[in-house]
Amino acid sequence: MSRLEIKTNPDPILREKAKKISEITPEIKRLILNMAETMKKANGIGLAAPQIGQSIRLCVINTEKGHLALINPTITWKSLRKENEEEGCLSVPGIFKPVKRSKIIYVKALNQDNKEIKFRASGLFARVIQHEVDHLDGVLITDKK
Ligand code: ZN
Repeated sequence: MSRLEIKTNPDPILREKAKKISEITPEIKRLILNMAETMKKANGIGLAAPQIGQSIRLCVINTEKGHLALINPTITWKSLRKENEEEGCLSVPGIFKPVKRSKIIYVKALNQDNKEIKFRASGLFARVIQHEVDHLDGVLITDKK
């Protein structure tokens, strides 16, 4: 595994809308492992592919059970109820600001075995997923109210 370089604002790749992944190749699986390693070394709780210079719809999230890879994730439902909590971002170093996010979300994605996964997320887990999906759409915390 190797540590990848994390792109920081204003790198233009952070502003692109990332492309859907059409096939989960061995390169994608290797990238997932390297992203997980990079996230851990940087003490991050989530990392999206555009942050390491790949404009594809993939992110990794740190969970109690290890890293979770989400391929082509979509948030299929968001609670109207929101929470305002401070967030930081590895691509926006030194900035911490409160961001309003839905408290509960439902997520659909592919895992690295090309299986569709659907789950409910709440609290910090829901917040991290919303943050990473924003990255796939070129949105940074500095854009959020
Ligand atoms: Zn971020």
